[in-house]
Amino acid sequence: MQRRHFLWTPPALALGAAVTSNSVMAAPSIVTGQTKILPRKGKGPRIVICGGGWGGMTAARYLRELIPDSDVVLLERNPTFWSGPMSNKWLVDIVNTDFVNRDMLHPANKYGYQLLQTEVTGFERDKKLVRTAHGLIEYDFLILSGGIRNDYEAWFGNDQRAIDYTRKHFPNAYIPNQEMLSLKSKVKNFKGGTLVMTLPPPPHRCPPSPYERACLIAWHIKKNKIPGKILILDPKPKIAPIGVGYKQAFEELYPDIITHVPNAGVKEVDPFNKQIKTAAGDFKFDDAILMPPHQAADMVWQADLIGKDAATGKPTGWADMHNRLFHAKTDDRVYFVGDLMGAISPQFGHYPKSGHVANYIGKIVAQNIAERVAGKEVIARLPDNLCYMMVNGEPQEEISVKFEYEVDANGQVNQTQIDMDVRTSDLVKEDFGWINSKFSDFLGT
Ligand SMILES: Cc1cc2nc3c(=O)[nH]c(=O)nc-3n(C[C@H](O)[C@H](O)[C@H](O)COP(=O)(O)OP(=O)(O)OC[C@H]3O[C@@H](n4cnc5c(N)ncnc54)[C@H](O)[C@@H]3O)c2cc1C
Repeated sequence: MQRRHFLWTPPALALGAAVTSNSVMAAPSIVTGQTKILPRKGKGPRIVICGGGWGGMTAARYLRELIPDSDVVLLERNPTFWSGPMSNKWLVDIVNTDFVNRDMLHPANKYGYQLLQTEVTGFERDKKLVRTAHGLIEYDFLILSGGIRNDYEAWFGNDQRAIDYTRKHFPNAYIPNQEMLSLKSKVKNFKGGTLVMTLPPPPHRCPPSPYERACLIAWHIKKNKIPGKILILDPKPKIAPIGVGYKQAFEELYPDIITHVPNAGVKEVDPFNKQIKTAAGDFKFDDAILMPPHQAADMVWQADLIGKDAATGKPTGWADMHNRLFHAKTDDRVYFVGDLMGAISPQFGHYPKSGHVANYIGKIVAQNIAERVAGKEVIARLPDNLCYMMVNGEPQEEISVKFEYEVDANGQVNQTQIDMDVRTSDLVKEDFGWINSKFSDFLGT
């Protein structure tokens, strides 16, 4: 346990006085970027959470429970919640849309936080203000939980035409937005030929999930006798995590459908002519799911809180944060939750960018803020991680991976990885038990 001492002092002035509207959910009738919206509720601290996904919704719930007089505001651009976990199964109709697409007002009402559907556009950290499409919102503490962005610029520079074309024609649906539906319709309408999947280099969102997606689309191809093949272009030298389990699934279940190409880091993409140059050779495709490198969501860049590589001075692409307490190194009023977080340890780099970890850190950050508000010592806590991956649709069979963490004598966080490579139907039951307990935790279902 590592302890540090922080205090929260209530604002001297009720800043809500400057707000121009008494309405909580609706914007004032005449809005400019400088309009302050959302009057403060009660005397407790105002905590604004940017991004209502796995991490942000968890933090919102636990902040309301741990700090009963807190004024918690959750800002989310989407009207409804889309889950990454289970979305591969949804692509091939193993679960239905209601399972992965959920109402957000229910948890907001149940746990008593304010939910505003808006776009976060920037920050004035010196004044503790969030800029949104609806106006300015004050905070005492800020949580950034906006997930990831697709770094198409790594492939296309500032060629916006190529970026837009790739998004439109070869969506990857790794961010909860309209791409989810586009990709599902692409899979349903796939008539055959070579479907290429590019995998991002690590660190990226949910490392085992692209292989799960390949397995489930291959299962769909096999079941429907579609004359199609899947080519996985993987920048890594081997499949990881759960490499043995995936390799067996590829070879035993989909030998004529899936080809895994290691060391195939992308060098150049020509989306118009459907060609890719990689370190392992050049490939043509009929259709594709193109995943560029991942980075922290735009909001971390807008807050000017991206880390810099110690050796090169270049942006790391991820939040610059205290590795045990999750606040920004340069601003302890700003916390990070979920996939946008920066590196944790020289041993393993980043915590796995998973819903499980985002949910865990959401709780830890809520506890840490509650400790500060109460004037108590802040306790540095560790998460764990667990991911279940379906590799066969009939019979339904899964493999899984577990990560455990501990702090060594030097204060370094170390990771132990346990792969469950043998595919079983028991793991499917565990998976549905896991997701239902998580949804119940932050969606209040
Ligand atoms: C195909 C797939 C399968 C996966 N499988 C698993 C699994 O089996 N197990 C597991 O644990 N994890 C899995 N994951 C990973 C999991 O989805 C993510 O790790 C998790 O969603 C991270 O939570 P988060 O809160 O950081 O981000 P998100 O859940 O993505 O939430 C971020 C939210 O912020 C919002 N946002 C971003 N920018 C703005 C802005 N400017 N203004 C307003 N709102 C904004 C977004 O709309 C989004 O709702 C999977 C992911 C995918 C894509």
